[in-house]
Amino acid sequence: MPLMMTLKVLTITSNGRGFRGNAKYNVFYSTPSCYYQAVTQSNPNLITISDDFFPYAENDHAYWTGYYTSRPTTKRFERIGNNILQASQQLNAFANMKNDNKSIDYNENLTSLREVMGTMQHHDAITGTEKEKVALDYVRLLTKAIRETEEPMGQIIGDLLRKENVTERITLPISTCLLTNISICDDSLKDRFMVTVYNPLSRYVTYYVRLPSYNSTYNITGPDGEETYDIVPHMYYSINSTSQASEAELVFAARNIPPLGIKYYYVQKLNDKVNGVEVADNKTFGSSGVSFTLDDNNLLQSVTMNNRTVSINQKFLAYISNNGTGDSIASGAYLFRPLNGTDAYHIDYIFGKDNVNETTQNRVKASYTRGNLVDEVIQVFNDWLTQTIRVYKEPENNYIEFDWIVGPLDNDTVDTEYNHGKEVITRFLVSDVDHEDFYTDSNGREMITRKRKHYPYGNSSFEPVTSNYYPVTSKISIEDKSKDIRVAVLNDRSQGGSSLWGGEIELMIHRRLLRDDYKGVDESLQEMEFGKYLVVRGQHYLVIGSATTDSDIKSTAAQERELALKKLLQPLVLVGDATEEAWSLENIQSKINFEWSGLKAALPDNVNILNLEPWKDGSYLLRLEHILAKDEDMNYSKEVSVNVSDIFAPHSISSIRETTLAANDWLSPSDTASLDDFKAKNDDDYATPSIPRYLNENGTQISLTPMQIRTFVVELFDNIIILLVIPAMKKNAVFFVLLFVYGVKSVPLNSHGSKGSFAGHLGCVKCHSVNQTKINVHLIPHSHDDVGWLKTVDQYFFGMNTSIQQAGVQYIITSVVEALSENPDRRFIQVETAFFWKWWKSQTEQMQQKFKSLVDNGQLEMVNGAWSMNDEACSNYQSIIDQFTWGLRTINDTIGTCGTPHVGWQIDPFGHSREQASLFAQLGYDGVFFSRLDHDDEAKRQSEGNLNFAWQGSANLDNSVILGGIFPTSSYGAPKGYCWDYNCADDPVNDDPDSVDYNIDVLVENFVNLTKTYRTYYPTNNVIIAMGEDFQYEAAEMYYTNMDKFIKAFQNHEELNVIYSTPSCYIQAVHEAQPDLQLKTDDFFPYSNDAHSFWTGYFTSRPNSKRFERTGHNILQVTKQLIAIGGLNGTDKYSENLRFLREAMGVMQHHDAITGTEKQHVVRDYVKLLTRAIQYAEKPIGDILQTLLGIDPAEDLDVNLQLSSCLLSNISICEVSQESNTFTVVVYNPLSWPVTQFIRLPVDGKMFNIQGPDGEEKYDIVDPISDFSYVSGHYQPADNELVFSAKDVPPMGVKLYFVNQTTTSNTSFPPVGNDDYSFGDDQTGFEINNDTNLLESVTINGITLNITQNFYYYYSESGKVDNTNISSGAYLFRPTNSTPESLDGIVTTVGSTRGELVEEFHQKWNDGQVDVSQIIRIYKNEKYIEFDWLVGGINITDDMGKEIISRFTITSDFNNNNTFYTDSNGREIIKRVVNHRPDYTYNSSVEPVASNYYPVTSRIVIRDDEKDVEVAVLTDRSQGGSNLHNGEIELMVHRRMLHDDLKGVGESLNETEFGSGVYVRGSHYLIVGSATKPNSDGKTTAAQERILAQKKLVQPWVGVGRISSDTLTYDEIQKKYSLLKNALPENVNILTFEPWTNGTFLLRLEHILEQKEDPTLSETATISLNDIFNDYTIDEITETTLGANQILDKFNEIPRYIWNTTGQKMDVKPTVTDNSKSSISLTPMQIRTFIVKIVPDKENFGVVLKPVSLMFFFTAVLLYITIYDGENGYVLIRR
Ligand SMILES: [Zn+2]
Repeated sequence: MPLMMTLKVLTITSNGRGFRGNAKYNVFYSTPSCYYQAVTQSNPNLITISDDFFPYAENDHAYWTGYYTSRPTTKRFERIGNNILQASQQLNAFANMKNDNKSIDYNENLTSLREVMGTMQHHDAITGTEKEKVALDYVRLLTKAIRETEEPMGQIIGDLLRKENVTERITLPISTCLLTNISICDDSLKDRFMVTVYNPLSRYVTYYVRLPSYNSTYNITGPDGEETYDIVPHMYYSINSTSQASEAELVFAARNIPPLGIKYYYVQKLNDKVNGVEVADNKTFGSSGVSFTLDDNNLLQSVTMNNRTVSINQKFLAYISNNGTGDSIASGAYLFRPLNGTDAYHIDYIFGKDNVNETTQNRVKASYTRGNLVDEVIQVFNDWLTQTIRVYKEPENNYIEFDWIVGPLDNDTVDTEYNHGKEVITRFLVSDVDHEDFYTDSNGREMITRKRKHYPYGNSSFEPVTSNYYPVTSKISIEDKSKDIRVAVLNDRSQGGSSLWGGEIELMIHRRLLRDDYKGVDESLQEMEFGKYLVVRGQHYLVIGSATTDSDIKSTAAQERELALKKLLQPLVLVGDATEEAWSLENIQSKINFEWSGLKAALPDNVNILNLEPWKDGSYLLRLEHILAKDEDMNYSKEVSVNVSDIFAPHSISSIRETTLAANDWLSPSDTASLDDFKAKNDDDYATPSIPRYLNENGTQISLTPMQIRTFVVELFDNIIILLVIPAMKKNAVFFVLLFVYGVKSVPLNSHGSKGSFAGHLGCVKCHSVNQTKINVHLIPHSHDDVGWLKTVDQYFFGMNTSIQQAGVQYIITSVVEALSENPDRRFIQVETAFFWKWWKSQTEQMQQKFKSLVDNGQLEMVNGAWSMNDEACSNYQSIIDQFTWGLRTINDTIGTCGTPHVGWQIDPFGHSREQASLFAQLGYDGVFFSRLDHDDEAKRQSEGNLNFAWQGSANLDNSVILGGIFPTSSYGAPKGYCWDYNCADDPVNDDPDSVDYNIDVLVENFVNLTKTYRTYYPTNNVIIAMGEDFQYEAAEMYYTNMDKFIKAFQNHEELNVIYSTPSCYIQAVHEAQPDLQLKTDDFFPYSNDAHSFWTGYFTSRPNSKRFERTGHNILQVTKQLIAIGGLNGTDKYSENLRFLREAMGVMQHHDAITGTEKQHVVRDYVKLLTRAIQYAEKPIGDILQTLLGIDPAEDLDVNLQLSSCLLSNISICEVSQESNTFTVVVYNPLSWPVTQFIRLPVDGKMFNIQGPDGEEKYDIVDPISDFSYVSGHYQPADNELVFSAKDVPPMGVKLYFVNQTTTSNTSFPPVGNDDYSFGDDQTGFEINNDTNLLESVTINGITLNITQNFYYYYSESGKVDNTNISSGAYLFRPTNSTPESLDGIVTTVGSTRGELVEEFHQKWNDGQVDVSQIIRIYKNEKYIEFDWLVGGINITDDMGKEIISRFTITSDFNNNNTFYTDSNGREIIKRVVNHRPDYTYNSSVEPVASNYYPVTSRIVIRDDEKDVEVAVLTDRSQGGSNLHNGEIELMVHRRMLHDDLKGVGESLNETEFGSGVYVRGSHYLIVGSATKPNSDGKTTAAQERILAQKKLVQPWVGVGRISSDTLTYDEIQKKYSLLKNALPENVNILTFEPWTNGTFLLRLEHILEQKEDPTLSETATISLNDIFNDYTIDEITETTLGANQILDKFNEIPRYIWNTTGQKMDVKPTVTDNSKSSISLTPMQIRTFIVKIVPDKENFGVVLKPVSLMFFFTAVLLYITIYDGENGYVLIRR
């Protein structure tokens, strides 16, 4: 067949996509055939080789020659399988010929065995290089297949033997006796039994049937009358088995079984005992033709055969296996490496260790049998080695048989102490012959000449034995031409063998090795059976004859060929119990013939029917082979011809066509019909076959040259009529199959739309139907893809760093898309938009479309939708809203509205906040699902059926009730045993009833039981089961294939309805059942998975990255606003600069990012990502501010506001303010009220002049908190800090300051007296105790409170002390003691300041365990006291982790009734009671500290209602905190630990920086005020806290910039800008203002107070949007849901789920609906989201826009001139 025509060759030139820009290389996808073609085209000169590639050695010591023999019993069983397969194929072919109506498919009988035999050929099956359990499985498979094949054999043979006058079919009760090798066969031990012998060869064969028997006399009736027989003893067996070996063995000859024919024997046991074996002194055995003699030691001495007598010795030896000491190359399943490279050791012939004496030591115990048919000598060498030497006496048996049993190789036969195994060989040594070569067969066919001691490429001295080993698949021979002697040993299976010196042949027969040879199988080869090491039985056949071929008698080689064939394809002996009357001899004789032949005549001796088997459509496969090689025999090596026309009498061949060897293609290229078209449709097709279809005189004469194999497909005449019918029948069958498939696929899908009132609620999501009278099991396929954890985000996406974890999200999504496309029933949920986006942008449009269509058709549901699955303890609500908004927008921008998520999927966060539930409600979600909740809570809910519940997420907002869904176990993975991901260890579903591993029934049954338990956990008949774990579905088809089968197994199940589902479908199903749900009004903190494991450590873990996240949030809000303002005029040139920061902040919210529960290298990556994103977002800020301030770069070239925030000012480093004598400071206030900001900049000087919009500013010079001497970096920390006040920075406005370092100053720094320990004034101030230097009292809001503050530390539990293995770690907090340690030493004053603007007291603790400094500070006119602390260098030299807290203790009488309040994600406040949970009881004494810790995202509050005092501490980041005793607040500020807490991160939380434990700087803000009434400023303390929290969360952005020229006159430029015309009310905040899509802006307003927090400020607020902006007007406004992805009006048209609840609802104020679009009302805590269009004011056009528009014109021109910058994408050339 011309190759060119069939192969499509991919050629990609260097200009193509394949390999850009390199003309030297052409890289493309290829195939071996394409490679072959390419090589052929280049016409190379190739070296011809004519031998093979054995043996294979990787190096001089690693010869892969052991596997030739490994697992010898498997190797033998494979040969038996082949023997039975060939015989069965033939018998089934004949049965098919005889089968008149073709009602039986005889191919089917053969399928399993054909397949298994294919499997057995695998290079880790027949080789013995598989694992032990796999080898056992191969044996099991093969046994089963053999059994299936022999099952119909009784009928087939019955049919063939049946006499013509017998019409009734006869099924003979016959089967193979596979265990005759251990002398077990139940049927042959019956008093009457039948034996059928089928000869699979195409010649007459005499076969010696050998069956387990009694030591008795027998009568054997066969086709030739009564047969003689021998009763012989069997060998000694050391095997335990359920059946006992028989007394003796019966041997009789089935003489001249016809070619492909059957002989039938009837055997009756007579009662006479036979005499014992004949023992004679004469040590010659056999007949005159073939005989052997033994020597005095009972070892073989000589053999006579083919008119020659040769001296030959045969014995057993063993190699001691090398154990690989020193070089790791040991004998193993693959390798053979004897310890002593040169020769094997003799095996001592000792009979039992306790019976040693000199005379018997070298003498083999022997017993002899001389029978009518056979002479046998049984040699017992020792207790694990026995052999029978056997010779059949009739002339055609020209060989001597060596039938050996070896094993078990017990521990005392191998050297277990030094790991030396043993490899046993048999060795034949012929005296006085000489030869250079020896010969081994190649796969049982041609012989290959091997040179003795020939090392073509190895060094002979390294491995002289193993390097000379070759595979002996069938025989090994030597020749001495001068003496005309040829010696061959044939084997019954593959073995390794060699001829190491003259006259010697050795074959390895057994191996037991104690070491793995490191080639991958990872087991040592030590086979066990019946509790002992393996016993092997096998045979060698010795042939001795002439070495020449030029003789008229058959050459020795030809004899060997014939013998090999007879041994490979032995007659199939089937034995059956004939004791029933129906099978009496008389009855059977009347019904069947005792002889039958499938062939009309025998074929020539050099031809064999290699295959005869039923083939397609009633045809047969016939394969003929010439069994001799050329020159092997004078006569038989000639070409031979066979006429096959009526070979199968009485059936004659109607057509015959030759095929290629594998019968898959017609041999003749001119024969264009395909094999499938074998059945011709019209006569034309019969006209041109190369080998005639219709027989003629020459057409059936098939000739064969030596070793030729020819393959034919033949048809027989009596089949023709039937064949015409079959195609029509097949068509019908196909039709029925299609119908069936259609039926399966048309399982009705129930879109939510069909439910009437909920029309459109779920959008495109489509649900499989549920049945509320059954248990509906909702299987939710999902993959939990952490946006960073053990690996970084990108490592997870691309699948890098696999040594840590095998996980690649890009593969997951692609693989899921492909799998979903395969079957429309399948479902999947896509969760993390960060990964979705990375995937989407790297896909082809086609792939994107594929994904989208799966969303559109309801198979793929987008859930959660946020950028990441955010943590719920540490994240601030603003960041959560942002990351949902950006995620939902990305979904909208890519896949559109069908992707709109409807549910929260927070399966992994370590506790769940109420605010998260509230946000979900506001996002329009129906519910939230998770798996982690306190174990006591979980148990209670399970027992009460409350794993579904109604969750009211807000105490202020209505419509905040959603459904809560908890998984039935504490995991979000598939139930044990049902995980079918490629990285799961569970067994797949095996629904093939033919398979030995069939398991679906058990899987179903167990699942039913499991699900019935789960059902009790839920209020309705709907159970949710998450099918997926971390990073699963990388090979999704695997999971789905199994789920498909599993779900199918439940079709029409009585109790269960198992369906693919999604969370939305689950909620719909639950809602349909209308349950009463228990109402939940608080949160799920803290989370503990057992009595000791409270996940309260992560509230504080990695405090620096927790703070950096807040900084990132602050900068994101500022840059969003400024870039929006910069784009108000209609040019949106900077909004892409926000992308990275939006994304990075989304990533930071992830439940392994802000939590600090990721690996160290991952946190570094987060910091890198965030830093880069901040820099990119800040890049255009200078330009924007410049524009806002009316600075025209064209005119004011000296002012170039290259501004940046000084991110290192927390360690007193700011490059610009330290290095420049003159610099600008720009302060932007992102809040919607004016804010006074105290600017604090590291400086090295002390005298400054500061000019601002309000003239010259006062300033203070203060000391930094520390000299930061531990910091080693490029920049040095500053000596001083400059403090000045940016007063009343306008709402969303800017103030610009110029700072000049001078030599004079208008500010004096009054010294602080040593005895003066009071700071501040009578409204706000504090006092220090002059003994302890600690805080003594504070005065805020005019209330003075005795309160002290100090630092303490808990020792971290290591889990070793109490053997629980539960230690404090990144997740868990577990102190050793409930009382924390005090810091040692006196606290010293390291300075204090009473400046114009700020008063400070500096403290330093002198403790050896932790380095602590703190500034207690008050700014003028502020109503709080700041505690600015620096904690680090935690000492771990005592091997103890430490967790540092700051504790505020009210020293006067204060009673807060064990009650305190913490915020939920920085918003609503939740009441906490010490040692108490509202929903369940728990034992608070087990972990009294950790179990009372709660997340303090923003603040913690205690109140004494009687005294009307409230004390609040606000934080600058998330921390864990508690109120363990009345009047006390503690916050954990830092942690360093030495143990992993075994929650998965696999590292201890031990952050270091600059060579010591990391330092953390942070602030606490203390407020004291009235608990109930407004304070003197008219605001309640709660309101003050709210406003302060906003100010600290979203602080003014301070940009510092160099001034390039000192000639600038400050007066010349504008110094102030405000977007807002007026400040908004103090209870309203502009939560979001950012550029949105198509020139619109996203505007989000929030009411920042809760109900009843303040009599005035908690009222509904109303603002007018009509006149809100300077210079701009809102032109269009559209309200949306919180996520800005759904228009609110449209959303409200869709009915919401209403839940029936039990329990007390929190009382909320109904939200206001305004009719006027320009007037916006907000009820407490309400957030409203709008998409707005903003246009410039008409009247201001001339004034403001003119210079601006000129600017834009300028830049617009420049926009066209762009350069490509690889790092940042397209950027403008500015100048
Ligand atoms: Zn996770």
